[in-house]
Amino acid sequence: MTASSRVLQGCSLSRGYGSGTAYVYCAGAAPPVPHRSIASEDVNEEKRRFLLAVGAARRDLSEVQERVLAEIGEAESEIIGAHLALVTDPTFIARIERRIESRRINAELAIEEEAGAVAKEIRDLGNDYLRERAHDVVDVKKRLLKHLGHGAAGVLEQLAPGTVVVARELLPSDTLNLDRAHVVGLVLEGGGPTSHAAILARSMGIPAVGCIDGLFTHVADGHCIFVDGERGEVLVDPDAAQAGEFARSQGSYDRSLSNLVADEWRECVTLDGHPITLLANIGRPSEVDQIRRHYLAGVGLFRTEYLFMDSPERPSLDAQRRAYRAVLDRLGDRPMTIRTFDIGGDKRPQFATGVLSRGTGGLRGLRFSLRESAMFRVQLRAIMEASEASNQLAILLPMVASAEDMESAIGIIDEVANALCQPRPRIGAMVETPSALFEVDDILSLADFVSLGTNDLTQFMLGADRRTAESLSDDAIFQPALLRGLHHVARCALAHGKPVTVCGEAAGDPMAACLLIGLGLERLSMSPARAARVRAAVRSHRRSALQTAATRGVEARTRAQVVDIVRELSLGTAETNAAKS
Ligand code: PEP
Ligand code: MG
Repeated sequence: MTASSRVLQGCSLSRGYGSGTAYVYCAGAAPPVPHRSIASEDVNEEKRRFLLAVGAARRDLSEVQERVLAEIGEAESEIIGAHLALVTDPTFIARIERRIESRRINAELAIEEEAGAVAKEIRDLGNDYLRERAHDVVDVKKRLLKHLGHGAAGVLEQLAPGTVVVARELLPSDTLNLDRAHVVGLVLEGGGPTSHAAILARSMGIPAVGCIDGLFTHVADGHCIFVDGERGEVLVDPDAAQAGEFARSQGSYDRSLSNLVADEWRECVTLDGHPITLLANIGRPSEVDQIRRHYLAGVGLFRTEYLFMDSPERPSLDAQRRAYRAVLDRLGDRPMTIRTFDIGGDKRPQFATGVLSRGTGGLRGLRFSLRESAMFRVQLRAIMEASEASNQLAILLPMVASAEDMESAIGIIDEVANALCQPRPRIGAMVETPSALFEVDDILSLADFVSLGTNDLTQFMLGADRRTAESLSDDAIFQPALLRGLHHVARCALAHGKPVTVCGEAAGDPMAACLLIGLGLERLSMSPARAARVRAAVRSHRRSALQTAATRGVEARTRAQVVDIVRELSLGTAETNAAKS
């Protein structure tokens, strides 16, 4: 190891290896703006984006001006008046449009160029008063760029090739905005394995490591970074020996993954032929294509809140209907379970921030939707209209806290279905709160199926925030209390004759999945990229062995004992495989 190289130990958030140059992302910092050429057919779209930003800037400047006038004074409000005058100046607007058209450049670049030219003209006049006015031009430029999506978050959308993003924490909206073509790794100071940033990194196939204390004392912009998502390690400015070892590990990881992927067409059955259903967790229409690629049976969880993360306004009926239709169209005749907005926690879509600050009291999921019932009804109608009464679709309600809430939701769903003269779709409840766990029997009397959200259930049962470094390790699911809770749900569902799916991250971990199957949970929904390993694990165990291990796990006293049981299980398989070969 050279004097400058460092190894930082954290926890794996997303598997795989990636190496590149560190870009330290600080929410709130002034971002660089994308500069690009555009095709002639995109000129009108670019002008449209620009004019929308002008409209939004006008609206918020008028509001600010009124507020300043009322709360501060007339002289100060004139400063804002000057900004407003510039943003409504037809010459300024026309000159930017002309730049977009004649130079075939994006709106951001045209704004920067024009604002730079105007500011220079003013400065060149050499008058102190006017020099101040040049600052106004810069301010207006920033405001327009903000409305084009270049607040602090916009920077993540256009990164240099081979970038490792290094951040304290990433919100789901930041993660969704990541420039997927160019980001090769993610390193977070916080972020537990079940944080939404980790879930999204996995579904995007970006290797990620989190939970690194003091990350920023070791890493700065421009450092060479190797992300080892297998060991949960980060190498900073590695020496030649470390780089060589990293390349070897990466090579063997890629080979073993491609072997697993080559076997994905095989049935997902245990060694003794018992079928297990593998489904996909998705958040965007583009992910549907992975379902076919990984031979999955359908969508077990469609997280609709991801679709509209960046939308400043509540998504309209039409926008939602189109988005849901787009997923159904790509899905063919495979089934889809669509979850209504799960807003709250670290999932705060822009369109809901005003509502959240008005005091929904930290309510999440269904509890939020019942309080904001107009928004809920629009979503339900969009879902039902998109599916045109087909059987293919089921509605899943997140964060169900009680059978009583479930009843209220069903009442609303019935009203929407009746108004559309459609039969009520199948309705499921997420069991992801301790209260739902204790009321699962009553909930199952009302619901057509249930889905186990092990991510939230784990955080609530173990009292650890899923976003933080102190949060949950990968083996948290092996806590005996949790296994007993899951076992209880499996037995109740069986008694009611209703299906139960696991859609938390545990379902995508091969050994956790084995234990879940042993508990009787035979429908598993996961990020599609994780399915190859789960399928291979299922195919290498007898169902009876999984059941025995799960029974021992439920009866165990400590998490460490369960971890040992799981190790024995995988060791047994390794020995059987060795004996066979
Ligand atoms: C869960 O909590 O396990 C779950 C699947 O929901 P989400 O991760 O979207 O909160
Ligand atoms: Mg959840």
